[in-house]
Amino acid sequence: MSRTFFEIPRLEHVYRPVSERVQDYREVEGAVLPDDVRQLASRCQNCGLPFCHAMGCPLKNAVPDFNRAVTQGRWRDAWERLSETSPFPEFTSRVCPALCESACCLEGTGFGATNVRQIEKKIVDTAFDNGWVKPRTPKCRNGKSVAVIGAGPAGLAAAVKLNEAGWQVTLFDRNEKPGGLLRYGIPCFKLDKALIDRRWHLLEEAGIQFQGKTEIGKDVAGSYLMKHFDAVVVAYGTPVPRDLKVPGRDLRGIVQALDLLGTMNRQHTSESTACGVSGKGKKVLVIGGGDTGNDCGGTVLRQGAVSVMSIDLMPKPPTERSEHTPWPLWPYKLRGSYAVDEGLERFWGLNTLRFLGENGQVTGAEVVPVKWDFDVNGKPAKFALAGPARVISCDLVVLAMGFLRQKREDVLANLGLPDQKNVLLAGDAANGPSLVVRAIADGLKCAETLC
Ligand SMILES: Cc1cc2nc3c(=O)[nH]c(=O)nc-3n(C[C@H](O)[C@H](O)[C@H](O)COP(=O)(O)OP(=O)(O)OC[C@H]3O[C@@H](n4cnc5c(N)ncnc54)[C@H](O)[C@@H]3O)c2cc1C
Repeated sequence: MSRTFFEIPRLEHVYRPVSERVQDYREVEGAVLPDDVRQLASRCQNCGLPFCHAMGCPLKNAVPDFNRAVTQGRWRDAWERLSETSPFPEFTSRVCPALCESACCLEGTGFGATNVRQIEKKIVDTAFDNGWVKPRTPKCRNGKSVAVIGAGPAGLAAAVKLNEAGWQVTLFDRNEKPGGLLRYGIPCFKLDKALIDRRWHLLEEAGIQFQGKTEIGKDVAGSYLMKHFDAVVVAYGTPVPRDLKVPGRDLRGIVQALDLLGTMNRQHTSESTACGVSGKGKKVLVIGGGDTGNDCGGTVLRQGAVSVMSIDLMPKPPTERSEHTPWPLWPYKLRGSYAVDEGLERFWGLNTLRFLGENGQVTGAEVVPVKWDFDVNGKPAKFALAGPARVISCDLVVLAMGFLRQKREDVLANLGLPDQKNVLLAGDAANGPSLVVRAIADGLKCAETLC
């Protein structure tokens, strides 16, 4: 058992300085030196029953194995082990909230969990730098074809697995380029889009085909896919954002999060020069205090917003792990955010009653504090209005309240597909809005059922 965790502390943050990073759109995280990563990996306890692997990671990454290889400087072995279970570690090592770390046996001991995400990042970056990452071309084709609708992480993962098994895979996406929310949702300063291009070139070389700007159900009918392919995988995410239907919703200056994030990501990869939604010179109110809300905050701060605050209907989470989510579960607790460090102000327990405007343009939001009652599992159950209403002055409102989960029958009806065995759902389309790592794991699982 390693004892280095007594001397070597967990690395809490590797963010570039705020004053530097808000001036650009490069990744907010800086690099960690290889020797420092080896030290961090040496903190791993190599547990007999590794909860990080068995309960934490949806991909079942063999975390202790690659930690040991890194500690011993065997980077290539570490890469081989990581790539056995994870098809896109360059994405997860940048955007995953690291469910593995909250299941690490050092979590909650006061010493801090092993920095699995940083270790994973160094392994995959080293593998690319050394040319170890190769296209996985199938040994032979099995004569079957599959249409995958949606080229987000779930669709890409399903495509990889099916292609390796010999299927001829065609990915259809309504967007111009593959990546889904990795490309058009998550900001480029969290995930550099060049990494998606680099991975896509490998997938293309391995034989996967992509047909962009093609919306299934509109440009191409579901029945066409059923006729021309042996199977269809629906990985089209959760395309419907939650709305806030209160008086004043039709005012100008109230937009959905993806209108802001999609425009910004396209502009910063030169995919589009069109002016879209921008927070420049504006007082911005983000409604929704989750990851998407944070990303909207970070975006408008870079665009030159005068001020930005986010409000959430839900109560402020506790600062420490809630007793209802004990180790090794993913903890319900308040998380820090790069955007808060950059100037986003977050407020909780506020309900929006209506939007106010002048000459058709939003000028404010009327909000009222709410008090929550909790159920026996510690979950916020119902709320009551609790205090006088007040107006938050703003000239841009960004709705970041998540996306609606659709039932299987509705997904199929939208796309004009029948409900039969060779039509499968994967990722957020199957399970509702979640995480990149879960979408990848589900894409792989879905492909396995066809193989
Ligand atoms: C702003 C934002 C930030 C996020 N940040 C994180 C994060 O930091 N970490 C994390 O783990 N998760 C994050 N998530 C969640 C994560 O991005 C999703 O859970 C994940 O991308 C889901 O993958 P998916 O492949 O199922 O769907 P998506 O990524 O949504 O991909 C679906 C694809 O289907 C295409 N499509 C839709 N309809 C059609 C159609 N009719 N025809 C053809 N194509 C279609 C879409 O264009 C899209 O490319 C974030 C989400 C958002 C919105």
